[in-house]
Amino acid sequence: MPDFTAARKKLEEQYAPKGPGTPPASYRASMIGRPCARYLVFARTPESWNLRKPADAAGEFEMKRGREAEHQIIGLAEKALSGIFDKWVYNRDPNDQDPRLDCRDDALDVNGKVDALANEVENGKLWVFEAKHVSTFTFEKVDTAEDIKNAEEHWLQAWYGALQAYLFNKSIENGCWILGAKQRVGSEFPVKFIPVTLDYEWFQQPIDRIQLAERHRKAGTLPDPIPYTKKGCGSCEFLAVCGNDPRKLPANPNLPPELEENLNREFELKPAAAEYEKVKAKNREATKGIEQAVCGKYYIVGKEQTRTTKPSEGKTSTFWQTKVEEITD
Ligand code: SF4
Repeated sequence: MPDFTAARKKLEEQYAPKGPGTPPASYRASMIGRPCARYLVFARTPESWNLRKPADAAGEFEMKRGREAEHQIIGLAEKALSGIFDKWVYNRDPNDQDPRLDCRDDALDVNGKVDALANEVENGKLWVFEAKHVSTFTFEKVDTAEDIKNAEEHWLQAWYGALQAYLFNKSIENGCWILGAKQRVGSEFPVKFIPVTLDYEWFQQPIDRIQLAERHRKAGTLPDPIPYTKKGCGSCEFLAVCGNDPRKLPANPNLPPELEENLNREFELKPAAAEYEKVKAKNREATKGIEQAVCGKYYIVGKEQTRTTKPSEGKTSTFWQTKVEEITD
């Protein structure tokens, strides 16, 4: 038998992160939409950069697969939008990156690279395209640029910031995210386009944040943390360094004495509750249509019931109702 175990190990070693590296020499466009100046300071400071939540080989592998998928998504978009957009510029060969994709703003010290550029055939307008390989959850949750801009998740707000940075830097009016779902999304085709326009007014926010972060970086201080949220700080790679984690506060001595014990019990019972619902649903399915029966120590009785679904239209539907009694006498 070929040594597949060794091959797997080799892959794992190949993808194992090579240490924390050095912090970026400028703000990455993908950082500036995050609503926290403190994050920006951590991201440019070697000490905090080295203490980030570490990546692992599986994460690196997933990232590489994501990049490849995003590249493929752009190729699909180019074909699907043919006749509407032309003169596509994107990274067709990983070793031959087109400099027109570079986005460098020296005044703001922001750096990045767009995924693709293309011209609108009708009027020659240049558009910026960003591809995203996303979970079914994200695919279903995000339909408009507003959904991205106002998302609770900082990483989604970061998408908005990155695309706006590109539009701002290149003085382009229009951009578009192309989302490709990682898994099937019901019967929907798993690719969607989300257009966005340059949002000058909003872009003042990242400018202010960068300026605040720079003042602190120069002074060797930190901006105040933002209010903790699970979807924001809870998934921040600098959470441990930042310390903005109310879950690490000392225990509150003023709570009812039995509360902790009751919470322990609640969490012990939680998995059983989920299993109870699953087994109950399975049993109800199996007893559908049985009007009366004894099964071991259980007495089953059932009948078809009618309920009104739309009273105004007099619409009704039927369902089977089963009751199960444990025979104890
Ligand atoms: S944990 Fe929250 S406050 Fe701290 S750097 Fe991250 S986003 Fe900012």
